[in-house]
Amino acid sequence: MSRLLYKMNSTKTGKDTKLFLHLKKWLEKAVLDYDMIQEGDRLLIGVSGGADSMVLLDLLDSPMLFIPRFSFVAVNIDMGFEPTYRKYEKLEKYFQKNHYHYVMEKTDIGVLSHSDFNRKNPCFLCSRLRRKRIFEIADAEGCNKIAFAHHRDDIIETLLINMFYGREISTMVPNQSIFGGKLHIIRPLAYLKQEVIKKYSKERRLPILKNDCPTSKTSKRIYIKNLLKKLERDNKEIRDNIYKAMSHVKPDYLLPNKEK
Ligand code: SF4
Repeated sequence: MSRLLYKMNSTKTGKDTKLFLHLKKWLEKAVLDYDMIQEGDRLLIGVSGGADSMVLLDLLDSPMLFIPRFSFVAVNIDMGFEPTYRKYEKLEKYFQKNHYHYVMEKTDIGVLSHSDFNRKNPCFLCSRLRRKRIFEIADAEGCNKIAFAHHRDDIIETLLINMFYGREISTMVPNQSIFGGKLHIIRPLAYLKQEVIKKYSKERRLPILKNDCPTSKTSKRIYIKNLLKKLERDNKEIRDNIYKAMSHVKPDYLLPNKEK
């Protein structure tokens, strides 16, 4: 798209603020750097209704300067926590107002993951079941890419979660091929910090849904978030340092696997 047409379209949609341009610039850069989107791709955009996913949807539904043409379907999986009725309506109205092609599905995944037999680690089962359903919907909707709203802070926190609790050094990657390349999971917000995403969601007055999951306040991710906040008091660059360390790995200075 030419810069002039881009500017005209952006002004028409009200997406021409400094903050929007900042987010769009870094989203497009991440998409290009990690080769996330090709001409004709059909994306399933995972929309929980939280600020991150609403911003991802809003940005991907914007005039693009460098990203080739693609189509998308917005998918919301309701986890079954009460009260869901009003939330469901609010999100559906938003999808309809914006003429999005969407799938909304009510499930009991959240409730099942918190049942007596699974008290210890609800997040594990919950993410597994939700992801399975998302793969099935992607298949039914003819999508070859799944776009999740994980951002820079999620990537940093996941590295620590995997080290602290999973005994491995790994994180969420910006472009991940699965099922032998049949599907790709992409994370277009990989370069963006959570605080600017939140700020933009307020600027756009996006209808954010509250997370009703009882574990959302006590999860390992929250623990790591709070830990990083404490560490940041002494070292403001700690998040940047961890993020950069992930692409500056020195395998010769790690331990070889001697376990049988
Ligand atoms: S915090 Fe709640 S909704 Fe999120 S993965 Fe864990 S159990 Fe599922």
